[in-house]
Amino acid sequence: MKAVERKQIVILGGSFAGLTAAYELQRLLKGRHEVLVVDRSDTFTFIPSLIWLPLGWRTAKQITFPVSKSLQRKGIGFLQAEIESIEPEHRMVQVRKVADGEQKTLHYDFLVVATGPHVDFEAVEGLGPKQGNTWSICNLEHAEHAGEAWQKFTQHPGPVLIGATQGAACYGAAYEFVFNVEYALRRLGIRKQVPVTYITSEPYAGHFGIGGMTASRPMTEWFFRHTGIHWVTDAVIERVEPDEVWFRQGKLHRADAPAGAAEDLAGKSLPYRYGMIIPPFLGASVVRKSGLGNERGFIETDDMYRHQKYPEVYAAGVSVAVAAPEKCAAGCAVPKTGYISEVMAKTAARNIAAAITGQPLKAKPVSQLDAVCIMDAGNEGILMLTDRVYAPKNRKVQILLPGPWIHWGKLAFERYFVWKMRTGQVRLP
Ligand SMILES: Cc1cc2nc3c(=O)[nH]c(=O)nc-3n(C[C@H](O)[C@H](O)[C@H](O)COP(=O)(O)OP(=O)(O)OC[C@H]3O[C@@H](n4cnc5c(N)ncnc54)[C@H](O)[C@@H]3O)c2cc1C
Repeated sequence: MKAVERKQIVILGGSFAGLTAAYELQRLLKGRHEVLVVDRSDTFTFIPSLIWLPLGWRTAKQITFPVSKSLQRKGIGFLQAEIESIEPEHRMVQVRKVADGEQKTLHYDFLVVATGPHVDFEAVEGLGPKQGNTWSICNLEHAEHAGEAWQKFTQHPGPVLIGATQGAACYGAAYEFVFNVEYALRRLGIRKQVPVTYITSEPYAGHFGIGGMTASRPMTEWFFRHTGIHWVTDAVIERVEPDEVWFRQGKLHRADAPAGAAEDLAGKSLPYRYGMIIPPFLGASVVRKSGLGNERGFIETDDMYRHQKYPEVYAAGVSVAVAAPEKCAAGCAVPKTGYISEVMAKTAARNIAAAITGQPLKAKPVSQLDAVCIMDAGNEGILMLTDRVYAPKNRKVQILLPGPWIHWGKLAFERYFVWKMRTGQVRLP
């Protein structure tokens, strides 16, 4: 029998999508081919728990683990390095090792791009934690800074603004954070001193960038009224000053106003003392430089998650281009959740294994992906299940379950998922 040549599979990014793809490839290929993960960080972070970290309800230690050790145990290579360029014509990736700055060229037979997003704070003047005036929970470092600011804020409370700008995608995290902050303020006994407002480019509360779900609008609006949170829809933020957010457009719905009543915010501002506003996401900088992505840096793939021009290049997770199912006047993009990132990564891995072993490839079109999400609200929450998350007109199942057990469910899921990724049990749901 003719021996199959040992293939080199390089995975760019070692988070939800990259790690899943690596474990799945190693399982399917039984160590007969090289699998190498490259990431600038050796730390896996359970990003969904970053909604709790600034409030002191989770520590970094509880929600992270070292990736290299977990991969090593499975016989998978790990290189902690900055990915500097991807050269698809030559099947090469240039990296710079974090440890000593040494530059290295990696050759691949198959490449999986799982480099996630670039959080584009430059999209709005004054936005973001480095050059701007607002905090972020988009990664561990941001969330830790948001937590230090929160500690100071609770000594001198004032208005809170939390949300997602025009062009943003990650609405779920913004909703979760505003509900958790509101609950934290109640626990601290300072809620009455703090007006809380949610800002979103969604056309209505509960749209989530996916055209909403059955009853998601009344249920989300009920949560806002019940907790006394005001909300701004159709928001286009002009600029963010140190204590005011200025709007080009937006409709303010006050929690205590009659249903349907809204104030026009065009040319007006809202004051704040603590702000966390999620910006639009672009594809990772290295993908944008490589020319592999579209104009926003996301990779257009076929239904097998292969690049349309380079069939040996696959993409998974946030790196994949997914068209919004419907347009929002203020501009909203679609969320690509952890669950969806895992499904894409498993599909890509199975198709690479199939290509190597001469089996037929299997399609999993984006339009057929399902979603399972928990929207946590501190001491309660909503479980959301839907089929065809990106094709709202074709959905058959849309379930929203509210209740206090959802919060405990999310905590339990965090433990389970961190264990699953640490031990590489990606066959489990
Ligand atoms: C605050 C927040 C809360 C969320 N909550 C939920 C939730 O409750 N449920 C849910 O399903 N989803 C949630 N999500 C979405 C979820 O986190 C993403 O779907 C998931 O992280 C996407 O995984 P990914 O592997 O595609 O990208 P990422 O997790 O962003 O990983 C990309 C990796 O690539 C690496 N990388 C990028 N560029 C380079 C480079 N040039 N060199 C070296 N390494 C590089 C990064 O270091 C990173 O490790 C949340 C997101 C946020 C921000």
